[in-house]
Amino acid sequence: MIYLDNAATTRVFDSAAIATQKAMLEDFYNPNATYKSAVKANEKLEKSRKNIADAVGAFPDEIIFTSCATESNNTVFDCGIKNQKGNIVITAGEHSSVYECAMRLKGRGRDVRIAPLTPSGIVNHEKLLSLVDDNTALVSIIHVSNETGAVNPIQQIVASIRKKNARTLIHCDGVQAVLKLEQRISELGVDYYSASAHKIGAPKGIGFLYVRRGLNIAPYIIGGGQEHGLRSGTQNTPYISAFEQAVNEFTIIRDRANATQIRNGLCDYFTSCGYNIVGSAENSGYITCVCIPGIKAEILQNMVHDRGVIIGKGSACSGAKRGNRVLAAIGLSQTEIEGCIRISTFNNTRDEVMSAAHIINETVKKIRSGNVK
Ligand code: PLP
Repeated sequence: MIYLDNAATTRVFDSAAIATQKAMLEDFYNPNATYKSAVKANEKLEKSRKNIADAVGAFPDEIIFTSCATESNNTVFDCGIKNQKGNIVITAGEHSSVYECAMRLKGRGRDVRIAPLTPSGIVNHEKLLSLVDDNTALVSIIHVSNETGAVNPIQQIVASIRKKNARTLIHCDGVQAVLKLEQRISELGVDYYSASAHKIGAPKGIGFLYVRRGLNIAPYIIGGGQEHGLRSGTQNTPYISAFEQAVNEFTIIRDRANATQIRNGLCDYFTSCGYNIVGSAENSGYITCVCIPGIKAEILQNMVHDRGVIIGKGSACSGAKRGNRVLAAIGLSQTEIEGCIRISTFNNTRDEVMSAAHIINETVKKIRSGNVK
């Protein structure tokens, strides 16, 4: 199979799976216990935290391990703004794990404002700023769109928000950006940043929330006081080891330039086929959203699957829900949305991606000719 749905999840690196197994079978002690083996397990945990923090550009004490980015995002919208009254600004491009949190608060009477997107899929910077006022408690902006790969210029947006209201908390959902963009979290100027390990070759079920040093956030899960008292529960040391290992592998591979080249090749090819690329010039190399007029993406997805190619169609997390809120916010019609496929790479070769692209195009021709069994 040529697997091109890496924005949904990635295959776990062999080394990360081995690290998980070792942590389960050998270093399985509770890192919060006090005997020597447990102390060693705790040292290993803290080493993982430091290596991950170094790789993403944060201090180790700013990294709070969570079960996933959905939990990280929920934490921000719950405990991250517990003491802050006032309105909340999000973008129309947020993943459901941010959007639904904001909608829940709206249902409870919060003033929630949604900044529109430009046709290229990034947030309209000026309109976002016009929604921020003295009363804004939180602004939440997705870093890289999971639908289109469009990259929001977080550093510039943060600087302009701070000029308008220096007290506003700023959260960034960095799930599709972590390590895939050059930027380090500390350079962005945000207060909170969410990440998920299964998008970079580690297992599902581990992520982190970056909480900027000095912020006084209330705990989300209370109990034994682990994770600096912010997220109780015995740490998932096997998956944290795997996360560290995946970060090491990915940092070594650094296939950003390769990803950009692959995306450029895909864009040229699909444009020559008469299809439209949805996304901005400043796009992540890892995600390409292609709109194929007159095609139902779901049918195409199943047909290419039978020929050994796995592609996405919109966010897997919103797969069960009808429509696509984010693509609609970019201005795509319902028919256009139905024809959108998402190709997302991770350590793929250019050759395999291009041969998948040819299979996709041949299959589209087959569907259009009505030659479908
Ligand atoms: N945010 C974005 C942008 C995502 O793409 C995803 C997953 O697809 C999530 C959040 C949720 O991540 P997790 O699966 O770790 O909860």
